[in-house]
Amino acid sequence: MPKPSVLKCVLCGKEFEPDRAPYTCDVCGLDGTLDVLYDYQSIKHSVSCSALNQNRERSMWRYRAVLPVVEEASIPDLNVGWTPFYRSGRLARTYGVKEVYVKDDGRNPTGSLKDRASAVGVAKALDLKAQGTGRPVVACASTGNAASSLAGFAAVAGLKSFIFVPEQAPAAKVTQLLVYGATVVLVKGDYADAFDLATAAIDKYGWYNRNCAINPYLVEGKKTCAMEIAEQSDWDVPDRVFISVGDGCCIGGLYKGFRDLKELGLIDRLPKIIGVQAEGAKPIYDAWRLKIEAQGAELVRPCGAHCAPRDPQAQRAESVRPNRKVVFSKAETLADSISVGSPRNWAKALRAVCDTSGDMVAVTDEEILSAIPELARGTGVFGEPAGAAAFAGFRKAASSGLLGKDERIAVVITGNGLKDIANAQKSVGKAVAVKPDLADLERHIEI
Ligand SMILES: *Cc1c(COP(=O)(O)O)cnc(C)c1O
Ligand SMILES: [Zn+2]
Repeated sequence: MPKPSVLKCVLCGKEFEPDRAPYTCDVCGLDGTLDVLYDYQSIKHSVSCSALNQNRERSMWRYRAVLPVVEEASIPDLNVGWTPFYRSGRLARTYGVKEVYVKDDGRNPTGSLKDRASAVGVAKALDLKAQGTGRPVVACASTGNAASSLAGFAAVAGLKSFIFVPEQAPAAKVTQLLVYGATVVLVKGDYADAFDLATAAIDKYGWYNRNCAINPYLVEGKKTCAMEIAEQSDWDVPDRVFISVGDGCCIGGLYKGFRDLKELGLIDRLPKIIGVQAEGAKPIYDAWRLKIEAQGAELVRPCGAHCAPRDPQAQRAESVRPNRKVVFSKAETLADSISVGSPRNWAKALRAVCDTSGDMVAVTDEEILSAIPELARGTGVFGEPAGAAAFAGFRKAASSGLLGKDERIAVVITGNGLKDIANAQKSVGKAVAVKPDLADLERHIEI
C-alpha cells in the first residue's frame, strides 16, 4: 500500500516526512494540524472509476489506496463505512430543492461516523506495533462517540484502551465503553478538561493518540464519508453538504475527501460544505460570521492563501491571519457530540467552509430536538441530537432562502439516535398506557 508522501501544516504549510512527523506542527503548536498528502499521480490508476466499479469491498477500505495504513494485517475486522445514502423526494418537495440525500452514518458498527477514524487510528497503532515502534495502548478524549468507537476497535484488535470523557456523557455511550472493556475515566469537568487530561496522560505514558484534532491520520478515515457520497452520487457531487461541527474534524475530513477526489480526477468540483453548530457552542460559526461581516480587509484562508468571498457583502471582510485563534467559549447544548467550546481542529473546519464557498449555520436546541422526529418520519433515519443537527441546519437554510430550487443537497447524519434516548424522548410525546381491553383503548386513542 502506498505510504503518504508528506504531512503538511494547515496553517504555515511546513512539511514533514511521514515517519518523522510530530502529531501537530512544531511551529504552530496544537493549532497547526497536519494534512496527510499522497503522490496522487502514482495512485490514480488504483482509484479510477473503473477500478472502483470492480472493487467488491463494501466498506471504507475500498479507498485503501488513499488511506495511510501500511500493513494489510492492521485493518480491523469490523465493517466500517459504505453506509446508506438515501434519496428523499418528500423532503425535497417540502423544502423546495431538487434533491435531498441523507447519509446515514449512524449505521456504522458502534453507531457513529467516528468509526471511520477509529478504524484508521487502531490500524496505525497496529502498524507501529508491527514495526516495533509503538506501545499497544491507545487513548483518547471524547464527548462520547469517539470514545465508544475507539473502545470497540481496540477490543477487536486486542489493544488496551484508556478513554477520557466528560462526566456528563450520555449513559448509552459510557455503557458502550464499559461493554467493550475500555478503561474509562469520567473527568469531572467538560470536554475541554477531558481533552487536557488525556493529552497530559498520553504524553507521559507514551500511548497512541486517537484524538482526531491531534493525530492527522484520523481525519483520513473520516474523509471516506465524502468519497462515498461522491461515488454514491455517480461522481456528480451534490451542490451542498450539511454536517454538524464540534471539534471540526468531521467537516475537515469531508473537505479532504472531496479534495483528494478532485486531485485524483474523479470529480471536477467540490460541493459547498455547510457546517452546523448549536447556538450554545458555536465558536467556529462566530469566527466565520466575523470574517464575513467585518469591514475593511480581504477574506483570507486560515492557511494564508486567498479565498473567494462568499457573496458581494463579503468583499471587504476581515482577514483571518495564520495562527489567529477562533475564540474559545463555554459550551452549552444538549447535542453532546458537538458541545465543544474549544474546537481543536478549527483551522481545518474554517478551511472546509472557506475553500468551498460554503457557510456556517447555527441552530437552537429546540430546532435540533424538533429535527429528530421530522428526519425520522421523513426518511426512517433516527439520528442522535448532533446528527439531526445537520438536518436542522438544512431546514433553517432552506427556510431562510439560502438554497436554490435546482440544488441537490446531502445531509450527513453523524450518529445514531439510540445513543441518546433521554433527549430523543424530549422531542416526542409519551406513549399512552391502556388496560388490556378495547373499551379502554377507545377511551385513550383516536381511531
Ligand atoms: C463527533 C461528532 C460530531 C462532530 O464532529 P467534530 O469532528 O467534533 O466536529 C458530530 N456528530 C456526531 C454524532 C459526532 O459523534
Ligand atoms: Zn505550522
